[in-house]
Amino acid sequence: MSGVSPAIVPALLDWYDQGHRDLPWRAQPTPYRVWVSEIMLQQTRVEAVRGYFDRWMQALPDIRALAAANEATYMKLWEGLGYYSRVRNLHRAATEVCEKYGGELPADYAKLLALPGVGEYTAGAVASIAFGIPVPAVDGNVLRVAARLDNDYTPITDAGYKKRTREHFAALMPADRPGDLNQALMELGATVCLPNGAPLCGDCPVQHLCLAYHRGNASTLPVRAAKKARRIENRTVLLVRCGAMVGIRRRPARGLLAGLWELPSLDGHLSPDETRTALTAQGWQVQKLLSLCPAKHIFTHVEWHMNGYYIELADQPAGMTFVTPAGLRAEYALPSAFRAFLSVIEEET
Ligand code: SF4
Repeated sequence: MSGVSPAIVPALLDWYDQGHRDLPWRAQPTPYRVWVSEIMLQQTRVEAVRGYFDRWMQALPDIRALAAANEATYMKLWEGLGYYSRVRNLHRAATEVCEKYGGELPADYAKLLALPGVGEYTAGAVASIAFGIPVPAVDGNVLRVAARLDNDYTPITDAGYKKRTREHFAALMPADRPGDLNQALMELGATVCLPNGAPLCGDCPVQHLCLAYHRGNASTLPVRAAKKARRIENRTVLLVRCGAMVGIRRRPARGLLAGLWELPSLDGHLSPDETRTALTAQGWQVQKLLSLCPAKHIFTHVEWHMNGYYIELADQPAGMTFVTPAGLRAEYALPSAFRAFLSVIEEET
């Protein structure tokens, strides 16, 4: 990472000034709005985030409101966005900001970086966009753009490469418009210098400065280290009814989807008879058992391959919480992994 020309700075700023996507968090880029949007956008597409962002800002318009919110409120607002440690860290950080900084995010890169859930990228985005501090915000999009501009075949997942890229862009930051340069780079990665071998070089404002383009390598960059294959877990998910109520339970405090509500499930793909036997063995009085459509959910490192059963019970077993379908929808955040099995009760809500 050394060949990215400083001439990209005016070219990108001009291009950004000529027009960019109209995103809700770009209107009134307060530190709180920039922070929340950047946390939501980690691992999540812009289009998926828009609605969540608007609902969040209506319910929790500032840091004090977030710090004062109870878990059910912020988890419900996050329901379906996934990676739930992000929202827990947002809440922890908001509490810390109220305790240490009087409810305002600090205009200081190192202090931002020290908050729960805030990494170098997010600290850089908030510091530069909201406070005008000249620090870079380098995420996967920017690493991809940088690798192509520089025709660099180092894997962009390499920690040394990330560090060098960050240092290089830090030296390029214009004192007067660091936030706009970071946003222009993000915009270029999201709309022109696209991933998966499909950059739109004909539309690129820095094509004349791009080594990969001139060497015909744009679609073969960036290089990524080979990913480990995901582990497959087979599960049997149970949509449990007792009268009009639906049974849910808390997941363990550690591990995947830690502490979240879930539909109960059993290990493996069990047949109807095996499921009935397993439930009877744990004292459940199964009155009805019907098969549901199978479903698959992909997490970062694991895939759940799920079959499911609709179960009617005579009594509510211990260790579960029973709620109405409307209550489940309104008040409980259930990970989207279970969504496929809820369609059966959707008409009741
Ligand atoms: Fe990306 Fe193509 Fe622009 Fe190079 S010319 S930065 S590969 S879009």
